[in-house]
Amino acid sequence: MNRDTICVQGGYTPGNGEPRQIPIIQSTTFKYATSEDMGKLFDLEAEGYFYSRLQNPTCDLVAKKICELEGGTAAMLTSSGQAANFFALFNICEAGDHIVASSTIYGGTFNLISVTMKKMGIEATFVDPLCTEEELDAAFRPNTKVVFGETIANPALTVLDIEKFARAAHAHGVPLVVDNTFPTPVNCRPFEWGADIVTHSTTKYMDGHGAVLGGAIVDSGRFDWMAYAEKFPGLCTPDESYHGITYAERFGKEGAFITKATAQLMRDFGSMQSPMNAYMLNLGLESLHVRMQRHCENGMAVAKFLEAHPKVAYVNYCGLESSPYHALAQKYLPKGSCGVVSFGLAGGREAASTFMRELKLAAIETHVADARTCCLNPASSTHRQMTDEQLAAAGVPAELVRMSCGLESSEDLIADIAQALEKV
Ligand SMILES: *Cc1c(COP(=O)(O)O)cnc(C)c1O
Repeated sequence: MNRDTICVQGGYTPGNGEPRQIPIIQSTTFKYATSEDMGKLFDLEAEGYFYSRLQNPTCDLVAKKICELEGGTAAMLTSSGQAANFFALFNICEAGDHIVASSTIYGGTFNLISVTMKKMGIEATFVDPLCTEEELDAAFRPNTKVVFGETIANPALTVLDIEKFARAAHAHGVPLVVDNTFPTPVNCRPFEWGADIVTHSTTKYMDGHGAVLGGAIVDSGRFDWMAYAEKFPGLCTPDESYHGITYAERFGKEGAFITKATAQLMRDFGSMQSPMNAYMLNLGLESLHVRMQRHCENGMAVAKFLEAHPKVAYVNYCGLESSPYHALAQKYLPKGSCGVVSFGLAGGREAASTFMRELKLAAIETHVADARTCCLNPASSTHRQMTDEQLAAAGVPAELVRMSCGLESSEDLIADIAQALEKV
């Protein structure tokens, strides 16, 4: 099926007389006739539900739709994008291991890897996404277990050369995990370019209405864990906490990763999405393909207007021919990238603050990627503790404004931006 059709009807096909919309199974627990029936679930011998901290039928229907959209073999929902990225990495790595990651990834994920996972004994090396194959190769160590990047980075808006990163990962016998939040599978399917596992903050375009936090992990089912069994003991040796099951043997390439993440990490961390939130996420998914098209059209129109404006020093948007990422965008994102544009005002930090104060349609928010246009000056909010030098080094100079173009009319958005720039 075409991705547009999967957005609307994927994941769930009701039988005769069953509800047309996915049922919300608002229940923590599930009933069984005998202890033996339930025992089989705990031994992972039978499929079924017993406790919504691990799995819930509503969440599984929505995960199945996202799995179909990405072209994967198995998927799960999590309570947030942060939880999805943590689970995806921690399902592979343990103390003593090492991660290679793109340096321009989302600040939350950067902290997760460089601060919190470091405390768990997992080290990381960050590489410029535009590095050469040699530089990328040099970042690997014998204990490297995974490579991580974002298709379009938030908020740096760099585009990942997925094939380059996949080649390097596979040459070292490790998987590539790609956070595909910004383009969504409507605009890019990283599995088609060699990625092994995809993650999402569904909080962004997938929900798309600023209503529910959530995350998702999808497995391509292609990474052969057993071929590198010595690197991945968590997947390739018996799990004593599950009666000695070896995930990669019992569930194969297609199912091992998500089964382990559910049976072990969801059991122990409980970062589960609520069935009600999964239901609302699914409402967002039903129109994702239509909304992405408008977000991209608005992003492009705003980027072009800003680029031609004398008070704007520069614009970052991979759809513009002036972008250093334009060629990569044409390859990986031929249908469009996303609605997020960032730009610098010639008048510096002061000008950015005046501009944002004068906007009438675009609200100041830390959020991105929902129906209503919003904007943020990282230097005076999320990156407030940094000096101007540190801001420049981090790729978020003091004058930078990030604007997430929503679903309004592009004429109204541009008129609003024009009147605010007048006042600068
Ligand atoms: C927002 C975001 C996250 C974190 O997601 P939450 O749902 O806020 O936890 C991770 N990666 C990217 C690319 C994001 O934009």
